[in-house]
Amino acid sequence: MTYEEELKNYLSASGAFLEGHFLLSSGLHSPNYVQCALALKNPARAGKMGAALAAGWRGPKPDLVLSPAMGGLIIGHEAARAFGVDFIFTERENNVMTLRRGFSLPKGARLIIVEDVFTTGKSTLETAAAAAACGAVTVGALSVINRMGEKTLPFPSLSLLKLDLTAYQPENCPLCRAGAPLVKPGSRKFT
Ligand code: ZN
Repeated sequence: MTYEEELKNYLSASGAFLEGHFLLSSGLHSPNYVQCALALKNPARAGKMGAALAAGWRGPKPDLVLSPAMGGLIIGHEAARAFGVDFIFTERENNVMTLRRGFSLPKGARLIIVEDVFTTGKSTLETAAAAAACGAVTVGALSVINRMGEKTLPFPSLSLLKLDLTAYQPENCPLCRAGAPLVKPGSRKFT
């Protein structure tokens, strides 16, 4: 079994990756749903994912790892451990991605951004912008899961698992046609 297959099995077993028939917040219907925090709750597993990201990375070694909170905290920390560098994180302040808590980036520092899931790439770009404002250079971005589809980031990137982002308009949904019960991930069971 490849690590990708093993990881996909673990995501399913941990409840992080669900296959079925889901109503997304956009109103579209999707055959899958991801809650990465459930896969990262086990420290040994999270550590292995961080190590796999660092081992797979072919670009320059970073001076440090930077992640956007909350999603990137655990996997970013584990990837930084594997690279043997420091880990810091950005947070939204008045909706702007910002370095708080006394964190700083040395001018010219090479950093890698690590996230749990690349969904639209928005938080990754905002994190890179916060780094650039300090004069630091984003040399790459890593994630456990990539569900960006055909979209790409403006720097080299690596994900452990690429997931199909298939989503359907309700009227065209083959799962509805097949009579599969529709589940809403925002409901009590999932939040
Ligand atoms: Zn449907």
